[in-house]
Amino acid sequence: MLNIVLFGPPGAGKGTQAAKLVDKYNLVHLSTGDIFRENIKGKTELGILAKSYMDDGNLVPDEVTIKMLESEVDKNSSAKGFIFDGFPRTTNQSEALEVFLEGKNTSISVMLALDVSEQELIKRLLLRGKHSGRADDANEEVISNRISVYNKQTAVVADFYTNQNKFEKIDGIGSVEEIFDRLSNAINNHNVTV
Ligand code: AMP
Repeated sequence: MLNIVLFGPPGAGKGTQAAKLVDKYNLVHLSTGDIFRENIKGKTELGILAKSYMDDGNLVPDEVTIKMLESEVDKNSSAKGFIFDGFPRTTNQSEALEVFLEGKNTSISVMLALDVSEQELIKRLLLRGKHSGRADDANEEVISNRISVYNKQTAVVADFYTNQNKFEKIDGIGSVEEIFDRLSNAINNHNVTV
């Protein structure tokens, strides 16, 4: 299996690149943010709970997020691999993912981390907020909290994969195609079974 963690702060371009990687490598795309947003639209219990955290730019509690992610993986038992986008976002989540995948005789192949400056992130998110319809993209205070949550709680997840020699930093500035080429090269060069 090819299991990729697509990593990076909000606005780094994870969603855009995940959509392209999924096509190229025939993977299942699991974006925890997208799944929460679908639940909010459907007014499910999970959606109502997640919304109260997302509106402020805070993380949804680990217990809820991990359970949801695991059930999404289980729904795709014939997948050749996954792109995890927006997950794991805490050390707890990375540990849980490792144990869960081990139970399925597989593991994360590589973490690809998109590197983009904070100034550029804020610019991109405000621009996206004009047409994405996402409340958390439209408010500068919420954007700034999301970046701060990333720095305080999520950035450390990179260490977890660095320690396993699975971390690849990718320059996230350039055209969509340029960044896609960098990601594809990193996958092809990382000794992973495609
Ligand atoms: P995203 O679409 O990845 O930017 O996520 C939007 C929001 O969903 C985040 O600001 C969090 O509130 C929530 N969220 C998404 N993924 C996670 C996760 N792995 N852990 C906790 N909260 C998450």
